[in-house]
Amino acid sequence: MTEQTESESRKLLGRLREAMAETVAGQARLDHIVKLIADSMATEVCSIYLFRDADTLELCATEGLNPEAVHKTRMRLGEGLVGRVAKTGHVTNTAEAPSAKGFRFMPETGEEIYSSFLGVPIRRLGEKLGVLVVQSKAARAFSEDEVYALEVVAMVLAEMTELGAFIGEGAAMSARHQQPAMFRGAVGQEGVAEGHVYLHEPRVVVTNPIAEDTEAETKRLREAVDTLRLSVDDMLRQSDTDDGDHRDVLEAYRMFANSRSWMRRMEEDISRGLSAEAAVEKEQSAARARMEEVPDAYLRERLSDLDDLSNRLLRILTGQGHQTGAEMPENPILVARSIGPGELLEYGRKLKGIVLEQGSVGSHAAIVARAWAIPLVIHAERITSEALNGDHIMVDGEQGIVHLRPDDNVGAAFRDKIAMQAAAQERYVSLRHKPAKAKCGRTIELTMNAGLMADLPSLESSGAEGVGLFRTELQFLIRSQVPRRGELAAQYARVMDAAKGKRVVFRTLDIGSDKVLPYMKRQEEPNPALGWRAIRVGLDKPGVMRMQLQALIRAAAGRPLTVMFPFVAQFDEYRAARAHVLNEIERERRLGHILPASVEIGAMLETPSLAFAPRQFFEMADFISIGGNDLKQFFFAADRENERVRRRYDVLNVSFLTFLEHIINRCAETDTRLSFCGEDAGRPIEALCFAAMGLKSLSMRPASIGPVKHLLRRVNLDEARDVIDQARRSGAQSVRGDVMEWLRTLK
Ligand code: PEP
Ligand code: MG
Repeated sequence: MTEQTESESRKLLGRLREAMAETVAGQARLDHIVKLIADSMATEVCSIYLFRDADTLELCATEGLNPEAVHKTRMRLGEGLVGRVAKTGHVTNTAEAPSAKGFRFMPETGEEIYSSFLGVPIRRLGEKLGVLVVQSKAARAFSEDEVYALEVVAMVLAEMTELGAFIGEGAAMSARHQQPAMFRGAVGQEGVAEGHVYLHEPRVVVTNPIAEDTEAETKRLREAVDTLRLSVDDMLRQSDTDDGDHRDVLEAYRMFANSRSWMRRMEEDISRGLSAEAAVEKEQSAARARMEEVPDAYLRERLSDLDDLSNRLLRILTGQGHQTGAEMPENPILVARSIGPGELLEYGRKLKGIVLEQGSVGSHAAIVARAWAIPLVIHAERITSEALNGDHIMVDGEQGIVHLRPDDNVGAAFRDKIAMQAAAQERYVSLRHKPAKAKCGRTIELTMNAGLMADLPSLESSGAEGVGLFRTELQFLIRSQVPRRGELAAQYARVMDAAKGKRVVFRTLDIGSDKVLPYMKRQEEPNPALGWRAIRVGLDKPGVMRMQLQALIRAAAGRPLTVMFPFVAQFDEYRAARAHVLNEIERERRLGHILPASVEIGAMLETPSLAFAPRQFFEMADFISIGGNDLKQFFFAADRENERVRRRYDVLNVSFLTFLEHIINRCAETDTRLSFCGEDAGRPIEALCFAAMGLKSLSMRPASIGPVKHLLRRVNLDEARDVIDQARRSGAQSVRGDVMEWLRTLK
């Protein structure tokens, strides 16, 4: 790059800054800017196209094209050269635009006389905002230097757009972060909520994209990078040398932090007139754009490391970040890219809902949201770049939809939905103390799933008859080290106290697979869901399991104790686990501690193999609980965490129901108590079918008890069974259609 072009470019940015400071309305400012750029680049045309919506670009200002076309000419993403730049994020530089591939002639603009075309994307952190174009009559390709200069200008435009520089009278565009936006994600937890955005990690706002003093900016950048390098070295020193994965990431951080080419590019950006922050963002944007394109997962990971590192660098430069001191708004809805259970629990029960860009239904965040009975929407892509602290937000956990800054119509429809739900809840409250007794006279036991102390009040409010599944791993997941036995015993005792004599089924630690303890060495496994998890860990390394059993026995102290082992795949595992319980009881007896009044030891049936275990297993197990979430994934070979397949199969599928019938029969032969505690038990139609098949006990999240009970009380389970059996005979794949049809005929 020549010094002359460098100073040209700085001059242009200097003028842009002046344009930004002018107190003119948005359109006038934009008009002024295109003129400045055209002058400075010595081109006849400069135009700015901005996105109107996700698929349409609009000509928002032009110098050189027909001014009448402004705000009239529009193109779809991918259409014409401009649309192609927007779609691919790549620069288009051609001397012969009309003969270039994809050229689309737009007569209203009068652009047919311009031969050369240079278009660069306007984007901020990978977010597409529009396209900046210069054109000239002479058929010439633009030099690399000119391309670079235009990219720098586009970067500044992106920052100006972000700062709302083009909003105002005769607005060139409506304000970003003021328009309504809708996000279609996936359901993490049902429920609806209205409130205000509270960002887990507020975005860094760069208020000074342009800087005159190149030297000072370069110095700031270098100092910030030094600080960054030191912090990465620190992290490396503190990291566990055996934890390969974590070290890999840190090593990649170190490599990037010391990368000469990264540094050189940022310094070059600064020499063009960008501030240190804008230079970091420009390179970060480019990395994000590349990230979207590389098919290789490993490379994508590395680019995302660079993204993370750039964020850290921006925080160092701006002093913004975690502790921004933003007050929690009223009815806070937490918005984050992803979040761990510990961090989530720190926010406490004030939260009214959660929206994540990543996450999965089985994630810890989802478990916590479930425990709190607040809606959770996952996979709401890009919401953290759209939402600002305090924004009005509506979360529809029923459909996985989020409305950000909703307009009045959407708001009204949403409130109707909330009101309808509230009315239904009221109806359920009146059923609270009534049994789930069906028309045929059969009564189904409805219990709740829990995992936190905070869940226990729901026992009373939901009308649950007990806790059918208490997931003990949450207490482990939210800590930075293994909890002590005394602490656990006190906690379990509090759970039993709160249950006031109602049965609580404590499930022993179910870790591994998606549930990884922060302080446990992670084992790299090709298929973690089929790997070293739950009871397999407990039996191989019994220390923690024995400690947990001791804590449970001490907590019971004279009260009945119910323990359940997760993920039992064969009889021997259950027998060995049971022996551990009996040994620990013996040990406690020898130590002179008060023993539980009675002990029930059960197994979760989560693998198909257990349904075919020897009869002796069914005789020995005091009870069995079907873990439908896992059982379903193994029965259909469909990963419960994988959005592409997890909804593909229905538990009302004839094969699954026939399998369920087999389990019910085997338990009936030995008179073994059986329940179902996967998520499906909380869905009214599914619950009805399970009950009709012969299940007498269902455990679900507290909020489901009302709806399930309401439906069960309206139906005759024998009739339902006839409908199911008829559907099974008919060759249907699922009985759902016939059952729904039958339900419609009921009064
Ligand atoms: C299940 O698998 O159905 C279950 C209840 O356990 P979890 O969801 O905790 O794996
Ligand atoms: Mg399970």
